[in-house]
Amino acid sequence: MTETVDQNRVHKLNQQEPREGPIIYWMSRDQRVADNWALLYAQEMALERRQSLAVIFCLVPEFLGANLRHYRFMLKGLAEVEINLQKLGIGFFLLGGEPGREITRFCRKARAGALVADFSPLRISRGWKTAVVKNLSAPFFEVDAHNIVPCRLASSKQEYAAYTFRPKIKKLLPRYLTDYPPLKPHPHPFPAFSSLAQNGGKEGLLTGWQVAEEALNVERQVPEQSSYVSGEKAGREAMERFITAKLPAYAADRNDPSKDGQSNLSCYLHFGQLAPQRLAYEVKKAGGETGEASLAESKEDFLEELVVRRELSDNFCFYNQGYDSTEGFPRWARETLHAHRNDPREYLYSLEAFEEARTHDQIWNSAQNEMVLTGKMHGYMRMYWAKKILEWTETPEQALEIAIYLNDKYSLDGRDPNGYSGIAWSIGGVHDRAWGERPIFGKVRYMSYKGIRSKFNIDAYLAKVRSRMEE
Ligand SMILES: Cc1cc2nc3c(=O)[nH]c(=O)nc-3n(C[C@H](O)[C@H](O)[C@H](O)COP(=O)(O)OP(=O)(O)OC[C@H]3O[C@@H](n4cnc5c(N)ncnc54)[C@H](O)[C@@H]3O)c2cc1C
Repeated sequence: MTETVDQNRVHKLNQQEPREGPIIYWMSRDQRVADNWALLYAQEMALERRQSLAVIFCLVPEFLGANLRHYRFMLKGLAEVEINLQKLGIGFFLLGGEPGREITRFCRKARAGALVADFSPLRISRGWKTAVVKNLSAPFFEVDAHNIVPCRLASSKQEYAAYTFRPKIKKLLPRYLTDYPPLKPHPHPFPAFSSLAQNGGKEGLLTGWQVAEEALNVERQVPEQSSYVSGEKAGREAMERFITAKLPAYAADRNDPSKDGQSNLSCYLHFGQLAPQRLAYEVKKAGGETGEASLAESKEDFLEELVVRRELSDNFCFYNQGYDSTEGFPRWARETLHAHRNDPREYLYSLEAFEEARTHDQIWNSAQNEMVLTGKMHGYMRMYWAKKILEWTETPEQALEIAIYLNDKYSLDGRDPNGYSGIAWSIGGVHDRAWGERPIFGKVRYMSYKGIRSKFNIDAYLAKVRSRMEE
């Protein structure tokens, strides 16, 4: 249909025929106005048909253990989305409740001509869409606005590891790693909802950010983090700061938790406040094609993480619906972990002990404290942290459950395909290979206290976390 958006990004979810009416974009994973293929697709369709355009967001009162820390970050970002859309003449509506009911109800009242949604490989989001499909009488399109190479196109099956996925991505990347066209001011204004909602009034509609927060049925005990300012503008500024100040040293510093060598952009990517494609595009351009060797190496390393590893996580969750259970582990890992199920454990900790960072290992405790305090654990520590949970719990199933629970509760970027695949890599050998056999882990890769101590200045890391705790 549209010329701006590559057809491989678009997947039609029902068989409904085209019809007259405003175009509705149901924003979910990609919470931004700029650089958003789903919104661009919806706008182009609306312009072609001379129709108005609205964005709706359905606030579910509970989402995979997200708490006020996550919801506050998200709601602040959405408030900015609303302002930016208003400037372009595009409507914005916040709905509250079950998407299956609320999205279809909104589309019915608005007499929508089509519904466009963004893409997510997670079961919960796919379940919402299935529920919408059942009751929607307008055509329904899904647009992959999160992956640079659309997930379905990149591969038609679950990839075994990065080495099988990388050549497929690299082949398609030149076609997809482009700049975005701008969203245009929209010439056909969306009617006020009150005039649309003749029957049923404003049911399901949330009328303000405070009301939205109060409607949430979430845990409110986790302290709000102060490390990250929410929103599209803040995400873009953080990206620019990273490229200018930290990118050249990324290759050298990223794996050292005592340094601040990572981009710290994962929360913006997770909430869709920053487009991965924008970030990859700007990084690729940085310093021109003939930059210094260290910059070239850093760019390559960064794009390997941002593009190959991140999109591999979407591939894993999309094609393996057991992504958050031991059923999702490869067979060799399931077998080896099972063979070592009854191995004696030197230490055993309860969820509470883990959560309160009361293990015998001060490095592990610091990693846990870092996550609780700042909303993010350093990427290198995340591997060690998850592997030790396997070592210090009774079963791999329990370890997986605890790791996902804590990661999703405290990490601002939690509940993300990257989190499920990172934890499955650490505990269940996903995207990894078999290593030498040893107790508890079997052939799953092991990480030791001694090893991590010898790799970098761990005391500097402990001191860094301690000083954050004292602030
Ligand atoms: C046990 C465990 C749990 C994890 N949980 C999460 C999570 O909940 N959310 C999350 O986004 N990432 C998770 N990761 C992956 C990775 O650790 C983080 O993406 C990274 O640390 C985020 O920090 P950054 O943005 O500063 O990363 P940078 O090093 O600056 O990388 C930039 C971006 O590349 C992507 N990326 C980097 N490393 C990986 C990786 N190993 N796998 C996939 N994508 C990657 C991310 O999108 C990241 O934001 C987890 C990894 C492990 C081992």
